[in-house]
Amino acid sequence: MIQLTLIRPDDCHVHLRDDNQMCSILPDTVRRFARAIVMPNLKLPVSTTELALAYRKRIYSALPVAMKGHFTPLMTLYLTDNTPSSEIIRAKESGAVHGIKFYPAGATTHSNSGVTDITKCYSTLETMERADMPLLVHGEVTDPETDIFDREKIFIDKVLIPVIKRFQKLRIVFEHITTKEAVEFVKETSNNIGATITAHHMLLNRNAMFNSGIRPHHYCLPVLKHETHRRALIEAAISENPKFFLGTDSAPHSKFTKETACGCAGIYTSHAAIELYAEVFEQANALEKLEAFASFYGADFYKMPRNKDTISMIKENWNAPAQIDFSGEALIPFRANEVVTWKMTD
Ligand SMILES: [Zn+2]
Repeated sequence: MIQLTLIRPDDCHVHLRDDNQMCSILPDTVRRFARAIVMPNLKLPVSTTELALAYRKRIYSALPVAMKGHFTPLMTLYLTDNTPSSEIIRAKESGAVHGIKFYPAGATTHSNSGVTDITKCYSTLETMERADMPLLVHGEVTDPETDIFDREKIFIDKVLIPVIKRFQKLRIVFEHITTKEAVEFVKETSNNIGATITAHHMLLNRNAMFNSGIRPHHYCLPVLKHETHRRALIEAAISENPKFFLGTDSAPHSKFTKETACGCAGIYTSHAAIELYAEVFEQANALEKLEAFASFYGADFYKMPRNKDTISMIKENWNAPAQIDFSGEALIPFRANEVVTWKMTD
């Protein structure tokens, strides 16, 4: 029996939703991760410290009794054109908020209140730089003339480079990178810049959306990319460069809202999150590098202590569930009814 034991990982990018939907899925994250950077794009964006603290309280209440005390949600605020500097100070002083999320308006689920022009936020970014509050970036331009597969690389030139030049000490996480251009950019920039990489962007290329027909459950944003980009992401993840770390971007939507004429973007992977990363690292002959990517580099970037307890997996096939209850609706998880090759044992 092949067994793999790791220091317990952190998920540096997850969507936990809210209320009953959150209760349905939260145990999947908590079973695997000690902490998670929780995205603020609820229907009512989590744009203030007060809203973040209330959301955190709801997350703690949603934890099953046996899991209480075993999970720490790390909150984020939703940046808008009008987020005042005073809100950044409040967020920092709360000790509960660990990043400010920048969604270009219209980029993804519930991003309508997002930033229309980052230059409008420059005084807020200045405060974040001074307060050492990280900026978490959904790195895609949204203008309709730009091809959907090019949005990330154009964002680097149009938005990220000017921001980095102006705010040289601002810590930035380039979230869910999907292209070799993003990998190169992160490698070349200062140590203030890190990036999360999802399991699904390393396991699938864009053909997966069109495999014998349209596959709504493989539609996410940033959209899946060409095989050359998928390979570049794997290279980055196994490179032992501490700038690259685990963030699942697990984003649950009900089956009903995915299998429709205008389906939502998002892939749910929390039910097999660390197992799927183990598959990627094993296929790349780099299993021994998984622990640092999953459990060390994210914590280091966020200036948090590394976790002390461990999780274990064995090499054993199991089928991911065909569907998961999502507050009375069905959620179709990644690999639904298909084999996952690593299995959690505790
Ligand atoms: Zn996300």
